[in-house]
Formats: sequence, structure tokens, C-alpha cells
Amino acid sequence: MRVALQNCSFSYRGGGGVVPVFKNLSLVIGPETAAENPVVILGPSGSGKTTLLKLIAGLLVPETEGPGRAAAALPADSPADAAVNALPGPFVFQESRLVPWLNALENVYLPLKRTMGRADGERRARRFLELVSLDGKAGVFPGELSGGEQQRVSIARAFAYPAPAIYLDEPFQSLDIPLKLELLEMTRSLIEKEGRLAVVVTHDPREAVFLGRRIIVLGKNAGGVVFDEPVILPREERAFGTGAQNRLEARLLAALRG
Ligand code: ADP
Ligand code: MG
Repeated sequence: MRVALQNCSFSYRGGGGVVPVFKNLSLVIGPETAAENPVVILGPSGSGKTTLLKLIAGLLVPETEGPGRAAAALPADSPADAAVNALPGPFVFQESRLVPWLNALENVYLPLKRTMGRADGERRARRFLELVSLDGKAGVFPGELSGGEQQRVSIARAFAYPAPAIYLDEPFQSLDIPLKLELLEMTRSLIEKEGRLAVVVTHDPREAVFLGRRIIVLGKNAGGVVFDEPVILPREERAFGTGAQNRLEARLLAALRG
């Protein structure tokens, strides 16, 4: 899958006035070569990560295609926002957004309903629950799952959805470090196994180094893209707590992970 944003500008228009986020941004994502997948978008809060993810996913439409041509920005409460809030599809968010009255398996199966019959859909849902090591909890409801397990279900749900790309928006933010590491490893292995384009948003440089085969950094104060490089690093140099300066961190992590 290939996404090209060309001279793309985007502002939000709402009660508070116009909030410009991107001006003349040009960016090509994909093809999904293993060498540049996953793409990580790193940046401080408010730098436009979620907006860029939605632009890449086609959930938001750029206000200008090509220089000098004005078009209306989407209003703040755009149908696109409503759609992504209602339909999990290939998205993972910071919070798991599971349907509380459906069990884990049904939650993973829910978005598959649109394209698959029950038998095929449930088989696929079960396979992805297995891939996140939750096959034993298929019948359990979200309220009886830990936060980490809920997030694993939402990761399974996104990967099970047969879209050409997967989008993760700060999916590990609310997890403690050992759990974060476990889910990072799980996510990396799912991305490698699936070979689909994955775009991961984070504000944590260590997460970016751990996952990113290409890292795009957004600058503060709507600074746009300030860094965009492919990252070729052996796995051991991506791990948390490696390198001389991080030896103490490595021991602390080891202690935390037990
Ligand atoms: P990030 O994900 O990096 O925290 P966002 O893409 O959510 O950043 O937001 C970028 C900028 O756009 C911020 O200044 C934010 O306040 C503003 N913004 C985001 N969503 C809306 C919205 N629906 N209406 C108005 N402004 C918004
Ligand atoms: Mg965000």
C-alpha cells in the first residue's frame, strides 16, 4: 500500500477559531517494504500526530491539494471523526475502546462482520486472539480483563481486520513499562508476520527506536516534519536499556519485568 500526501495543508475549524496543523506537507508512505515498515510518527503532544495518522488513513481530507488552491477544512466534529470513533476497523487507540457487553472473541469479530460470514470471521478472530496469547480468554468480557489484556484484544481486533494497513495511535501510553515492552514485542512480531503497512504514533523516543524502520518526527508548535529517516539497527540496539548510558535502566527494567 502506498499513500502520497502532496502539498497537503490541514487546519481544524471549530468554536475556538482556525487551528492550522500542517502547511504544504508532502510525504510518501509505502510501499510496504520490510525495510521501512513500520513507520513511526514521533512528536510532542499537539504536534499533529493524530491528525497526520488520520490524513494517511484517509479519515481526514487535506484542505488544499497543490499550491494556491483553497478548499474548506473539515469542521472539528467531522463525519470522519464520528466514523473512526464508531468503527474500530484497523485502528488501535490509547484506550482499548472495546464494546463492554461483547466478549473478547466477539469484540475482535465485530468489525469483521461487515465483510465476512460468522464461521470465517470467528475463525479469523480466534486466530488473532491466539497471536496475542489471549485464546484462553475468548469468552471473557472486557470488564473482567486487565488493562493490558484489553489493549491486546484491541490489537488483535485491528490486525484481524483485513485492511491493507494498520494504524496505531499511542497504543501503549497508559501501560506500565513491563506491559508496554510485552505489547511492543507482540506488536513488532505481528507486523513482521503480517507484512502489512503499519503506522504507529508515539511521543516516546524509546518506543520509536524499538519499532521504527522509518521514523518521522513532527516538531512542536505545528512545526511539521522535522526528521524523516529510514532506521537500520540490529534488534539488540533497539531494545530498551541498551548502551553504556542505559545499563542502570536495563537493570531496573529487568527487575521490573521479573
Ligand atoms: P497530537 O496527536 O500530536 O497530540 P493532534 O493531531 O491531536 O496532535 O492535534 C494537533 C493540533 O490540532 C493541536 O493543536 C490540537 O489542539 C488541534 N486539534 C486536534 N483536533 C482538533 C479538533 N477536532 N478541533 C480543533 N482543533 C483540534
Ligand atoms: Mg494524538
